[in-house]
Amino acid sequence: MTDQHVSRETPGWTPIAEEAERAARVLHPDRHGMPRPVHRRLLTVANQKGGVGKTTSTVNLAAALAMHGVRVLVIDLDPQGNASTALGVEHRLGTPSVYEALLGEIDIAEAAVASTASPNLLCVPATIDLAGAEIELVSMVAREGRLKQALSPEALDRIDVDYVFIDCPPSLGLLTVNALVAADEVLIPIQCEYYALEGLGQLLSNIDLVRSHLNIDLHVSTILLTMYDGRTKLADQVTTEVRSHFGATALRTVIPRSVKVSEAPGYSQTVLAYDPGSRGAMSYVDAAREIAERGADGRIRTDGR
Ligand code: ADP
Ligand code: MG
Repeated sequence: MTDQHVSRETPGWTPIAEEAERAARVLHPDRHGMPRPVHRRLLTVANQKGGVGKTTSTVNLAAALAMHGVRVLVIDLDPQGNASTALGVEHRLGTPSVYEALLGEIDIAEAAVASTASPNLLCVPATIDLAGAEIELVSMVAREGRLKQALSPEALDRIDVDYVFIDCPPSLGLLTVNALVAADEVLIPIQCEYYALEGLGQLLSNIDLVRSHLNIDLHVSTILLTMYDGRTKLADQVTTEVRSHFGATALRTVIPRSVKVSEAPGYSQTVLAYDPGSRGAMSYVDAAREIAERGADGRIRTDGR
């Protein structure tokens, strides 16, 4: 990975040459295609804390995979609809969305629309209707398994996707439980900040509960450190602590804190489209490649302590 990068040691190096090279790697993926997984992978992106980078990681990882030739579906399971916005997908009230799919009124394919980020990237949007679902689901039959039903292998075959990423709301309510039942893998973004690990125990014990009662295949396959600020000692401390807890489950790539990453959704774009030469874009491409490489041999390393 880094061995191919233009660096200060490269003859003729300038900061602009380095940025141009990063942009080329993001924008001309044919030279750096990513492997398709042996089996379709469903990943739930969860952390009940808000603002840790769930949505940002979902859309940028999905876009990176899609731009490198892999077919990806993003399920926006947060009533705020931030993932839909970042992917340039309509999510006004009345738009066919994940809400109708949860209710079993429509097939997931009817709600899946191509993102402006890539033709290989589909998104099932969330409308504000979803805000009521948390309560409406309570009285429904098989309430924890509605999303799993909507994401049946047959339904996913029809839209022909290799990866499904489910972007969860910042809570451990029924929507998140539905996501944990529907997926095999959990991807937990952890912000390199104070209290980063606080509340993680609760998430992990919920995952254990879902595994023992509803979904024996569920496991934490991926930890992604986000908003890393190299200028602070704290960021390194959090990184070290997370790596000692989670070992190889944590990706080697760390996502830096970057203004470009936070600006992109304001333009209904991923950071890959908004500023392909930025470190944020490049780090999401590197993280996506690690994820793809783990899936390529069909043996995904997990819970790696
Ligand atoms: P969550 O979905 O977990 O609530 P978001 O992905 O929406 O979190 O991120 C929270 C905020 O932090 C957003 O405003 C987002 O733009 C910003 N953000 C996320 N990742 C980064 C980053 N690497 N650098 C700078 N800002 C970021
Ligand atoms: Mg979010």
